[in-house]
Amino acid sequence: MPDYSLIVIGAGAGGLVVAIGAARAGKKVLLIEKGHYGGDCTNFGCIPSKSLIASAHHAHSVHQNEQYGVVLPSPIFQAQKTLERVRGIVSQIRTHEEPDALRQKGVETLTGLASFVDDHTLSVRDAQGQERRVTGDNIVIAAGSHPFVPPLNGLQGTPFLTNETIFDLKEVPKTLAVLGAGPIGSELGQAFQRLGSQVTMIHRKERILDREDPEAQKVVQEQFKKEGITLCLSSEIQQVRYENGHFILSIKQANDSQLKTVEVEQFLISTGRKPNVSDLNLAAAGIHYSEKGIPVDAYGRTTVPHIWAVGDIIGSPFFTHLAEHQARAVLTSLIMPSFLKKKWDKQPVPRVTFTDPEIASVGLSEKEALNLYPANSLAIYFHPMSAVDRAITAGRTEGFVKIITKKWSGQILGATIVSDRAGELLGQISIAMYARLPLRKIANVIFPYPTYSLAIRQTADQWLTKTIIPSLRNLFKRSSK
Ligand SMILES: Cc1cc2nc3c(=O)[nH]c(=O)nc-3n(C[C@H](O)[C@H](O)[C@H](O)COP(=O)(O)OP(=O)(O)OC[C@H]3O[C@@H](n4cnc5c(N)ncnc54)[C@H](O)[C@@H]3O)c2cc1C
Repeated sequence: MPDYSLIVIGAGAGGLVVAIGAARAGKKVLLIEKGHYGGDCTNFGCIPSKSLIASAHHAHSVHQNEQYGVVLPSPIFQAQKTLERVRGIVSQIRTHEEPDALRQKGVETLTGLASFVDDHTLSVRDAQGQERRVTGDNIVIAAGSHPFVPPLNGLQGTPFLTNETIFDLKEVPKTLAVLGAGPIGSELGQAFQRLGSQVTMIHRKERILDREDPEAQKVVQEQFKKEGITLCLSSEIQQVRYENGHFILSIKQANDSQLKTVEVEQFLISTGRKPNVSDLNLAAAGIHYSEKGIPVDAYGRTTVPHIWAVGDIIGSPFFTHLAEHQARAVLTSLIMPSFLKKKWDKQPVPRVTFTDPEIASVGLSEKEALNLYPANSLAIYFHPMSAVDRAITAGRTEGFVKIITKKWSGQILGATIVSDRAGELLGQISIAMYARLPLRKIANVIFPYPTYSLAIRQTADQWLTKTIIPSLRNLFKRSSK
């Protein structure tokens, strides 16, 4: 008899959902965590970054006060308090995810690094090197991912930062270089600039946030420039030196033979993430994997059917909401009779980059839609926030709503929203896509005035004004000739 009905590896977003849910359903559950209960999201990801962004937003608003008719004496920034606040919020949230709290929910925990001995047995080694072996009927791998650090010349041995160390800073640095302007680099770069750092962002591509709609990239890039962030685009670091407490970075920009030198106090590397496959000894259990992650079937099973995997460990995209969504499906399969096993549904995964303005998207981008469908079968509707009364009253007219649909049916294929609180607005589009609600029906819904959400209804109105009415007019014109 195995020791446990279920063993979960990793107490992060995905692992906690499975472990707590299975314990509630009466299973004997062991949750193994190598270090930080709560995982990346709580300790080094979503929670500290969004807490920092909230402080940065306040700091930025103070500079805009006069524009809103509020005149205050010069504010005093205590940037170190911002970082203390971030750490306070992380500890507060983590208390619900620590072993004591988990025990009360019926989950047994074991702290140490887990690796497979065979397909039912795990070795768990604690910080003192003590080993314990445990066996499980089913095993769920929710071991997450870690920051990818590129092999830059001269980097090794220097005190560079990643998302795992930046929130430990005691002070906001005077100067900060950020390598990689993806979501993490862009969010943290803008936040530190607003908190008083002079930020230089170095990015390989021509535009920041390269997965996003080009119009969205442009809005956020303009905002970064306006806030004084130095952008080194189409650029790569050739050499890193660390001297007298400063990083000296030699940067090569495409089409420029001269190397540019940037000297900064702190250097953040945010060049992507890699699944944590290497410590697990997956081969001992016969689980197929690559450095991109562990492949799973439609139910979340690895190549060994009683071993499941959820979250970042299965590969990109890396989101808490996706890890939780997958974990819920696996949990259902584990606690229900086998004929009620639950497949992961194929609904589009929304994503939000919490820059200011935010970029929120779901489904196909304009480019992806044009690659999949003939252009004349699509309609792409664009509505600027400068035409939305709530945005005008709030002084937040930057950005837009873009919705991509099948032309005649109005079926929504995707959307991108750039605005203040774009992430909150996007949920409405996700619901419409999930419920297969066409854009023309959204145009019939009463939205409260004046809200940012009205931007969605105003975009939906265009199905009638830009697609149907002009077509009817053409039809009448032709028939009256
Ligand atoms: C700076 C930053 C900001 C982010 N912001 C957002 C956001 O705003 N929204 C969003 O949706 N996502 C965000 N993410 C991504 C999000 O944090 C991850 O997608 C999410 O945490 C993945 O959950 P998980 O359960 O797969 O892994 P994790 O939450 O990372 O949990 C994995 C756990 O497994 C443990 N572990 C690993 N290997 C072993 C082992 N061998 N033995 C025992 N334990 C092990 C780890 O210590 C870790 O605690 C952000 C990430 C970062 C880095």
